[in-house]
Amino acid sequence: MSMSAKVAFIGLGNMGGPMAANLVKAGYEVTGFDPMPEAQDKAREAGVTVAGSPAEAAKEAEVVITMLPNGKLVLDVYTGRDGQEPLVGAAPQGALFVDCSTIAVQDARDAAQAALDAGYRAADAPVSGGTVGAEAGTLTFMVGAAEGDIEQLRTVLEPMAGRVVHCGDVGAGQAAKICNNMILGISMIAVSEAFVLGERLGLTHQALFDVASTASGQCWALTTNCPVPGPVPTSPANRGFTGGFGTPLMAKDLGLAMHAADSTGTDTRLGQLATDIYQQFATEGGVGRDFSAIIEEIRATGGETEESK
Ligand code: NAD
Repeated sequence: MSMSAKVAFIGLGNMGGPMAANLVKAGYEVTGFDPMPEAQDKAREAGVTVAGSPAEAAKEAEVVITMLPNGKLVLDVYTGRDGQEPLVGAAPQGALFVDCSTIAVQDARDAAQAALDAGYRAADAPVSGGTVGAEAGTLTFMVGAAEGDIEQLRTVLEPMAGRVVHCGDVGAGQAAKICNNMILGISMIAVSEAFVLGERLGLTHQALFDVASTASGQCWALTTNCPVPGPVPTSPANRGFTGGFGTPLMAKDLGLAMHAADSTGTDTRLGQLATDIYQQFATEGGVGRDFSAIIEEIRATGGETEESK
């Protein structure tokens, strides 16, 4: 695929907007669609040609990328269930469909199947790295795709990517993403509980950090996204939990993980507890804040001792 290859980009929001802009910068001809006028304007400024519908955007595309809020929308857009012309069928034969949204494994497989049934190639490629990574072009892509499509995928994802990991067949990208984020969700609660317990035992944050960060408690939630200010100056806790990975997105990903746990009969008791905790927090203090703000909820809800009861 040449660098002037034509890419359709459907969903030009907080993630899709800057991702499409990075493709333009790398020399791709990008035609996009988003129903929101604000997203359309930003995309135009970045050099994206804005089409009137997803199908129109895909008319000449060699690669069709979607970056949408949820699985229902991806399936609606692919199959035209929302009353619009289906995306699948609109692109020239031979096109590669790549869904980068975070959606259920089964929805990813169903969307890919719709494209495969129409004679196209298809892949799922959800990302981690957030809006900062989308803007910097340093996202990690977790790819579920046939072996034969990987080279073309690497080429087109490269301007948006720090890393591209081939995880297996279609659906494997989503599976890797939700398994990773289940570890992250649980471990952030573990780290937060430990800091609050330490506070009540008279232990300074720095002392606990110095021990745990070089001992067996070491993990990303502690050493990169530390939920207390001080030990890791770049963590969201140092700026009032602004930016970072929003609590509602963590709650969404854990919900997808629990959906997958149910459908596979997997014992994920801690995953379920973490899901309940973040889903509640997402409707309360967690809105608009990094998920590590969960430490404030833990601090606020405890405090009673056997003697004080
Ligand atoms: P967003 O809401 O900012 O963007 C989604 C865009 O899709 C919106 O602009 C919306 O108008 C558009 N849209 C809705 N219906 C559409 C349609 N029929 N056709 C075309 N566009 C349509 O969301 P986001 O933060 O960009 O997230 C997109 C996906 O990326 C989600 O699945 C999310 O879980 C995942 N994700 C987000 C982050 C993050 O930090 N924001 C990180 C990793 C993964």
